[in-house]
Amino acid sequence: MSSTITRQIVRIDEELCNGCGLCVSPCAEGAIELIDGKARVVRDELCDGAGFCLGVCPTGALTIEVREAVPFDHAAAEPIIAEKQRTYIPQVCFRCGTDEDHAPLLPVRQQGRSEWVCTRCLPTLIHG
Ligand code: SF4
Repeated sequence: MSSTITRQIVRIDEELCNGCGLCVSPCAEGAIELIDGKARVVRDELCDGAGFCLGVCPTGALTIEVREAVPFDHAAAEPIIAEKQRTYIPQVCFRCGTDEDHAPLLPVRQQGRSEWVCTRCLPTLIHG
């Protein structure tokens, strides 16, 4: 068994989670699954703590916490990432709705939210 370290990892508030499942696809590493109608981090070693899933949650159930966990395991995540790339759901820009098949998307954090912005809208976001 791997020893634990103190690191960032996704936290799911079970009270706030409505089981919609929107967070499952954005997690490229497959760390989140729906179990008994609630999202759960099923294997700590698959969550890199990047928080790309946070922006899709409609209820604010997803946050990042710092706690003891096994380190992120690239080798364990790689085959899952490859599999999910074959069945992915494109994310969309929060400003214009363009999806990632039509413009590169970048993650942004603002006012406690994680969102995706396309490279066409990014200059406006930077310069106003
Ligand atoms: S997106 Fe939010 S509400 Fe929906 S399943 Fe995930 S944690 Fe639950």
